Amino acid sequence: MKHELEDLAAPCGVYCGACPSFYKGTCYGCSSDDRTQKRTSKWGCKIRRCCIDEHKFDSCNQCSELPCTLITRLQKSHLGDKKFRYREEIVDNLKRIKEIGEINWLKEQLNKYCCPKCGGLVAFYLYECRDCGYKMDLE
Ligand SMILES: [Zn+2]
Repeated sequence: MKHELEDLAAPCGVYCGACPSFYKGTCYGCSSDDRTQKRTSKWGCKIRRCCIDEHKFDSCNQCSELPCTLITRLQKSHLGDKKFRYREEIVDNLKRIKEIGEINWLKEQLNKYCCPKCGGLVAFYLYECRDCGYKMDLE
């Protein structure tokens, strides 16, 4: 199966391109349906099931129930914990995707998670460049 850039926009509004599972190659992005990937947890994700399998949407921003209980629970699951800052941003991300389109949003995210020192990838959880160790300032 071909891996598409669009697969890096998760149904819930997370940018999969900054996820350690993606850069390790164990996941092809939450929206991908490729069953050969190693990471299996996403197949049991309630948000993915609801959005992609049940509603046949690409993104939760196509749903009239947004922000629903599932999205709100994910957004607030680690409130205040910097490691999980990306979760607090999901509803804003979903709005932004609707506003500027998925491809433009993906480009924005690519820039956002690009190390200003070496151009490497700054992944979430640690918010640290995997190439030079630069730490992203989360205020
Ligand atoms: Zn760097």
